[in-house]
Amino acid sequence: MENLDTLKKRVKKIYEILDPLYTHKKTALEYRTPFQLLISTILSAQCTDKQVNQVTKTLFQKYRTPEDYIKAPIAELEADIRPTGFFRNKAKSIKGCSQGIVELYGGEVPSTMAEMLRLPGVGRKTANCVLGAAFDLPGVVVDTHVKRLSQRLGLTENKDPDKIEKDIEKLLPKEQWRRFSDILIYHGRAVCTARKPDHDNCPVAPLCPSSTL
Ligand code: SF4
Repeated sequence: MENLDTLKKRVKKIYEILDPLYTHKKTALEYRTPFQLLISTILSAQCTDKQVNQVTKTLFQKYRTPEDYIKAPIAELEADIRPTGFFRNKAKSIKGCSQGIVELYGGEVPSTMAEMLRLPGVGRKTANCVLGAAFDLPGVVVDTHVKRLSQRLGLTENKDPDKIEKDIEKLLPKEQWRRFSDILIYHGRAVCTARKPDHDNCPVAPLCPSSTL
């Protein structure tokens, strides 16, 4: 693997090329409190933000506090979130993290990574999303696009998202972590797709070790 300095310079160029290309605002999850954002983020796994927003429009009226989710019969909660897919797992995560918030943090969503990770059903990706958007903390969010692109671009040799997160964090200043994740997500959707990366029309092809594959 190339040395860290060379890699950093390459990432800087990739950032500078892609950043101006993806300036549109993404459909954002709609929420009013960190707790609502946490629920939306759990629901957003394998689901579009648009679909999540549709479900939470009524969900957030019905369930207002962590206690409301804890008290709800699991089958009822499953039915309420069913359109977002994987509803059984998501209902379990929502109940688990609500329980944790009440028992560990007196009903408030915590604002540090270590505390977030103690909540059942909350992994680093979810924690990063919530900490970044609700508390403005920097973080690299490693979803399926970020994972694929960081591997294709030669930014990591790891497969585990937590290790990829650490690898990317070494390459950029803190304040660029979140934006860089977003850029990779946009580029992954538009050009460097899972099925067919469009190397010929990729503006960072000269900087990408996978471009000739
Ligand atoms: S050159 Fe190909 S593999 Fe590399 S980022 Fe562009 S589309 Fe993806």
